[in-house]
Amino acid sequence: MAVALFGGTFNPVHIGHLRIATELAELLQVPCMRMLPCAFPPHRGEPRASAQQRLEMLVAAISNQSLLVADDLELQRSEASYSIDTLELVRRQIGPDQPLFFCIGMDALAKIDTWQRWQELLDHCHIVVSSRPDWELPQSCTVADWIDTHRCDDLDLLQQSPAGSVHFCELTMLDLSSTEIRRKVAEGENIQFMTPDAVVDYIQQHHLYE
Ligand code: ATP
Repeated sequence: MAVALFGGTFNPVHIGHLRIATELAELLQVPCMRMLPCAFPPHRGEPRASAQQRLEMLVAAISNQSLLVADDLELQRSEASYSIDTLELVRRQIGPDQPLFFCIGMDALAKIDTWQRWQELLDHCHIVVSSRPDWELPQSCTVADWIDTHRCDDLDLLQQSPAGSVHFCELTMLDLSSTEIRRKVAEGENIQFMTPDAVVDYIQQHHLYE
């Protein structure tokens, strides 16, 4: 059975994340999408909500369905959340033969050459990239060459191998971001329908982002 992971800061999780994760799970035909909040994002400053709070908001957001699952794997480590460490760990857990899909957005792909040991990622997984409004394929020569070498547009082929390819898909990218939610909360604006009601309530109860 293939395994799919969707990582993010989820500060906070929003409808854009939930919609894309759902579409990816269906596209990849996996039993569930494991959503992994990053404990200590290595490329960002400390998020204003703690890792535990970001996990709790995610759990609240997806509590009434089974396709999306909150995974606290990265919160169990005390050091920076490097994707390569997570992928090595999951690969050890699932064994060498099952397809492992690591789902990221085009914005993340554009910066992938800044990630720890990024060229080893495909040793453990396929990278599935969903496009996002205003983002284009990375122009950096190293990343562009790496994509050319590993790109696979045939999803059936991808599903028959455990790792090694980059696949692009065009899904419903809602024009929403956590940054916009945090900005609205800070300015006292309404964030209803940008994230599930349970997350709106959690943000209010814990006075996050004010
Ligand atoms: P921030 O605004 O704080 O940078 P974000 O909204 O981009 O946050 P992240 O938690 O950084 O959210 O994103 C996690 C993953 O979700 C990334 O791969 C990102 O590309 C993807 N993603 C973020 N927003 C959307 C969206 N509106 N639609 C689809 N995918 C999204």
